[in-house]
Amino acid sequence: MSSYANGLLKWNKIFLASLILLLTSFTMNKNHLSSKQTLAKPTASFQLGSSTIRSSLEHLKLDGNVSFDSIDHAAKDFGNRYHSLPLAVMHPQSVSDISSTIKLVFGMGGSSDITVAARGRGHSLAGQAQARGGVIMSMESLRHPEMRFYPGKMPYVDVSGGELWINILHESLKHGLTPKSWTDYLHLTVGGTLSNAGVSGQAFRHGPQINNVHQLEVVTGTGEVVRCSDDENSDLFHGVLGGLGQFGIITRARIALGPAPTMVKWIRVLYSDFSIFTEDQEFLISSQNSFDYIEGFVIINRTGLVNDWQSSFSPKDPVRSSQLQSEGKVLFCLEVAKYLYPENNYDVNQNIETILSELNYIPSTLFQSEVPYVQFLDRVHISEMKLRKKGLWEIPHPWLNLLVPKSKIHDFAAGVFGNIIRDTSNGPILIYPVNKSQWRNGTSMVTPEEDIFYLVAFLSSAIPYSTGKDGLEHILSENKRILNFCASTQLGVKQYLPQYSTQDEWKAHFGKQWEVFSRRKSTYDPLAILAPGQRIFKKAVAFQ
Ligand code: FAD
Repeated sequence: MSSYANGLLKWNKIFLASLILLLTSFTMNKNHLSSKQTLAKPTASFQLGSSTIRSSLEHLKLDGNVSFDSIDHAAKDFGNRYHSLPLAVMHPQSVSDISSTIKLVFGMGGSSDITVAARGRGHSLAGQAQARGGVIMSMESLRHPEMRFYPGKMPYVDVSGGELWINILHESLKHGLTPKSWTDYLHLTVGGTLSNAGVSGQAFRHGPQINNVHQLEVVTGTGEVVRCSDDENSDLFHGVLGGLGQFGIITRARIALGPAPTMVKWIRVLYSDFSIFTEDQEFLISSQNSFDYIEGFVIINRTGLVNDWQSSFSPKDPVRSSQLQSEGKVLFCLEVAKYLYPENNYDVNQNIETILSELNYIPSTLFQSEVPYVQFLDRVHISEMKLRKKGLWEIPHPWLNLLVPKSKIHDFAAGVFGNIIRDTSNGPILIYPVNKSQWRNGTSMVTPEEDIFYLVAFLSSAIPYSTGKDGLEHILSENKRILNFCASTQLGVKQYLPQYSTQDEWKAHFGKQWEVFSRRKSTYDPLAILAPGQRIFKKAVAFQ
């Protein structure tokens, strides 16, 4: 190409970039004037090419930086099944980096199909943090301002939306404090789990993580930076909690804290009767004097179960427990924990004995352990390290997470455990009840109608290229059979960490919440720029 043509091309790019910036600043002023109103869509009727968009991104004044080359990692996630390559990965170092990028994209209006996805740790299962040809906001780069603790009667901490929960744990412990509600794995970001819910064995008492947030700072789909809470911009606050990243990027969160335990009594007991198992779980989540953590899992046709546990747990009755046969059987394990606080002077062991004496597990199957609080909470990371060493962490994870109403859990179990699923060799199946009365109303999270429902999580790993029972195809077909069974028997099951690809499926998922969800979308992200990997809304693009 001649130098003249080159010069012209360059001039054209600069002209277009300026035009975009002009459009952006127009939108900014408009937002400022009327932040409560639904915004009219900018109406550019030409299509911008990716080189023009790239040039506009390069011209943005940023505290952080944008990369167009090191982008491959952003096309992957923990699920390892969906791979969408973005145009760019932004490493924001300030909220204004995020805001100006979104304003730039918003200013392009329908002239481009470019979208923006926040990426926490990328531990999604089906491309939810990806954006094909779009901009990935790598939230872990956002480290300012630093974590700030507010001790007192109702302690809390302000953290960045890209902060990892494991870091919050370590910093909180320095103040003798801890967040109250967790996920089973802590190497996830605050923004990532709050966009879903954050459910673990503490949720029966404290609700999920979205319950334990006082305030958020959010950059909406128009680039506006908004502080929100139950009292201030509450519609946005409730929308963002469990909102699958659809209404804004969480840049800051105020997390409730409580006194930190030092040690944990960690207990497992087994059942062969599903009804007795669930009765005990339901009894525990509704009694005042109970454990601090209550989960459970299903064991189908496992060999060497007791042997596997012996490295971490001591059986109370070593002789009889070693005689336990798990092969060819469906067993249910109740997993509970009691926290030990430094100032506790009552007899915790006595208290545990009393609670256990009210349960009806198989008597010879009591396994106990006492571990530091951090080790208990970070337990999955220990497995992660082992799996990474064997090359078994970065493989496909066709996980299926369901919320099953209490009244249907027996129908579910009868249809699935031992029938559709005949062994648990592909990964654990968690099962535990939670109590919705503890949960915040009005968030975007979708749950079954009933007060008590069960989280049932099929956490399978697929061996790459295997065409057998441990291969992806087989596991996906089992997942499909479970979903078909739930639909055909009308169990009222909802997906957690939902995965759908058509808007009709999403409408069915949200049910009567759909109207509010879609209204919030048009208010806070009117061009559908954010989190396209959820496949709920599609950005409208103007064609000539
Ligand atoms: P990402 O995968 O990066 O993002 C998830 C979604 O949130 C995307 O749509 C993304 O665009 C959006 N997003 C990310 N950051 C922000 C932000 N700052 N603002 C707005 N939107 C944002 N979940 C539970 O509830 N309980 C568990 O016990 C549990 N255990 C897990 C164990 C493992 C090993 C793994 C891999 C996952 C587990 N999860 C659990 C699921 C986990 O909570 C979700 O996958 C979560 O989204 C992962 O967080 P992330 O930071 O990697 O988010």
